[in-house]
Amino acid sequence: MEITYPFAKVFVDSTNKLNLFFLHDVEHSTFQQLGDIGTGIVDFCELDFSKLQEKIKALETVEVTNANFDDMKKVYWNAADLLKEKHSYIHFFLKSDLFRNFYNADRSEGEKVSYANFLFQYYINLQAVYAEALEFCLSNEILPEYTLPERYVMFCNLHPNFTQHMLRSMYGIAPIANGRFDTSKLIAFNDPAEVDTRKVLQNIHRDSEHPVSMWQYFAIQSLEEMFYLEFMEMIKRGIRIKRCGLCDRYFVLADKRKRDYCDRIYKGKRTCKQIGAKQKFNQSVEQDSFLQEIQRTYNRMYSRYYRMDAWDGDRQTNKMTEEQFKAWTDMASKARQEYKSGKISGEELLRRISENPECSRSS
Ligand SMILES: [Zn+2]
Repeated sequence: MEITYPFAKVFVDSTNKLNLFFLHDVEHSTFQQLGDIGTGIVDFCELDFSKLQEKIKALETVEVTNANFDDMKKVYWNAADLLKEKHSYIHFFLKSDLFRNFYNADRSEGEKVSYANFLFQYYINLQAVYAEALEFCLSNEILPEYTLPERYVMFCNLHPNFTQHMLRSMYGIAPIANGRFDTSKLIAFNDPAEVDTRKVLQNIHRDSEHPVSMWQYFAIQSLEEMFYLEFMEMIKRGIRIKRCGLCDRYFVLADKRKRDYCDRIYKGKRTCKQIGAKQKFNQSVEQDSFLQEIQRTYNRMYSRYYRMDAWDGDRQTNKMTEEQFKAWTDMASKARQEYKSGKISGEELLRRISENPECSRSS
């Protein structure tokens, strides 16, 4: 299939970063180096779509006419803009998806509106899929008895669609030396006609006289493709995630250093890491017997829900329904959050978890 603007060229190198050229149109592009790999997916899963959903919902009952089409279009653009400062790349790709829809000459105005609706709902649903994928495949605390490859295969059995994604890859000349993308050799220009190709090539190939510095990159056109690429790079590299000791949200473990807290703002201008490090009990999450107990229960529920028949993808024999599991994990997550922020005691945390009927029934 043909690639149309806007799209991104994504160069993956040996570092923990993704190198993205956002090609807005034929003449305009911007470059961004994103890191650490995995942050885009984790941030997506933590995004709050409720405001955006409100905006879209208001349109559901409106009939599309010639007179109100432009106004409706604006609502979708504005809804996408809500995510602008909240995520590194969602805004670009979501707007690209909308752009291709609204400027599609083969669709009627009514079709464009219903596709835009579908698009937003699709991504909101995708959030749940990726949240599950992250936890199932890459969480440090869940399913510790299985290896990473085992977990990935089990996940693919549960979600066969997941293995059928295709990404388009191309070759391009890029400033890459020793497997690393060299951003210092990038040039920014406003007018392609002004680029001195000979000089650019000399600059890129300064270190080598012979081979062409050719690198494979991905031509990424939709948000879903971008999520898939980033997630597969996490799997390939074994990049793990962990729950923050303070805000309880997942964060990416970028390297082997031991970390308990994320870098998100927790209170005022201070991050979880800054506050967490000074907490009174000052002990790591691993040493906290209450949290350990919760984690054991969580893992028991997890195994029970997935029944580990995930190996053959048959979920029918599960004793727990998806709703029950979701209700239980929501409750546990809320209780854990309150405990971590000091709102409830460890005893209270255990009481809440054990009072839940789903949990006491042995598996
Ligand atoms: Zn945190």
